[in-house]
Amino acid sequence: MDPNRGQYQTIVSIIDDQKLMSDPLVYLNGDFLPLTEAKIPVLDRGFIFGDSIYEVIPVYGKRLFRLDEHLDRLNNSLEATRIPNPYPESEWKKILSQLVMKNEAEDQSIYLQVTRGVAKRDHAFPEHVVPTVFLMSNPLVVTSEEMFNKGISAITLDDIRWRYCNIKATTLLPNVLLRQTALDEGAQEAILIRGGEVTEGSASNIFIVIDGHIQTPPKSARLLPGITRDLVVELANQNGLTCVEANFSGTELEAADEVWITSSTKEIMPVVMLNDEPVGDGTPGTITRQMYQIFQSYKTELKKEYD
Ligand code: PLP
Repeated sequence: MDPNRGQYQTIVSIIDDQKLMSDPLVYLNGDFLPLTEAKIPVLDRGFIFGDSIYEVIPVYGKRLFRLDEHLDRLNNSLEATRIPNPYPESEWKKILSQLVMKNEAEDQSIYLQVTRGVAKRDHAFPEHVVPTVFLMSNPLVVTSEEMFNKGISAITLDDIRWRYCNIKATTLLPNVLLRQTALDEGAQEAILIRGGEVTEGSASNIFIVIDGHIQTPPKSARLLPGITRDLVVELANQNGLTCVEANFSGTELEAADEVWITSSTKEIMPVVMLNDEPVGDGTPGTITRQMYQIFQSYKTELKKEYD
């Protein structure tokens, strides 16, 4: 029996799933084409070395959310990895809005990836290489009140990642292993601890509430500067809920009254169980609820401005 058969069947079933979504149009190196027809050479350095960076941008009602902030972070990741930015900002905006319009869902999650390009396998940067640019859209399942009320459970794990976690690199093997360990233990997210201090989740930033005060770790190379994180800090401070950017330990995390994570696809998600113990009374806390409402009102106001 062909040893690659299992893998082949998985690919076929992914493609079949995508076909059910009418084979969505994706963007690859200048063209819009069906996902099943989008192909890259095996010598792409994104495939060979994970030599690439990415962004995930949420879209609400066909509007790209916090687009300038996402494009700034994209630029920072490209600069940090010395991958030339393939397009000026205006071109990125054009491609992104075309992709949004070519896909049906009102709410979407746009995945954007830039690799250093295709070259003979050698660690050193190749000369005269053209970056590979790939974008796709998936329907965004917006956190409903029901999902929010249920919250998630999380466990703490040692932060085994590299020392440039501020770069949104696709080299995500540690994050993948950490997330899987959490899932294997019946939790949905791994909260990471480095040198005794909490950094972030495997795919999210983290906030705690102690005695009514919100706290999140300050930005550094130990964590991704989340676009949702920044917005939550901004909205908290604008709405009289002061948020302090300061490090805290795993012990402080476990003693917190409330805990939530943030990301572009999860928005604000309460952590109601941590290391098999309830956080507070095991339901989303008062300040978490307030923050969620403030976030939802911000989205509604923004929508009104556009309409
Ligand atoms: N931290 C990590 C490691 C992530 O992978 C993500 C998002 O996927 C975040 C934080 C949250 O970032 P954002 O709010 O920009 O989605």
